[in-house]
Amino acid sequence: MNDNCLFCKIIQGQIPAAKLYEDNDVLAFADINPQAPTHFLVVPKKHITGPDAAIETDDSMIGKILRVGADIAKSRGVEQFRFVINNGADAGQTVFHLHLHVLGGRPMSWPPG
Ligand code: AMP
Ligand code: ZN
Repeated sequence: MNDNCLFCKIIQGQIPAAKLYEDNDVLAFADINPQAPTHFLVVPKKHITGPDAAIETDDSMIGKILRVGADIAKSRGVEQFRFVINNGADAGQTVFHLHLHVLGGRPMSWPPG
């Protein structure tokens, strides 16, 4: 828990979110500013700023985030989707608590902007 972290506050229930899935390790909730018909975030409950801060003991948690993201997408009928993890401001990161974006429901272009 980081007192200044928006996603830690969502995890703690101090800020509301449209939760899609929760267990002991991860929380998934709708993105407040969706960029596709399906756009949700999967975050670890452990505060970690981003993938560049991950250590070896985080391996299972990071793998779980990917697996949970895919399971939620499929359970909502979204078979084709894009995963995005921004690391650092220049990459587009605005919330410094590791999060997987899951986007789907429309065609995606490449490369991303
Ligand atoms: P990033 O730019 O990769 O750090 O992504 C942060 C994401 O968090 C953005 O897509 C925001 O729309 C989203 N976001 C910010 N505040 C909230 C909130 N209170 N509830 C849900 N999503 C949020
Ligand atoms: Zn946090």
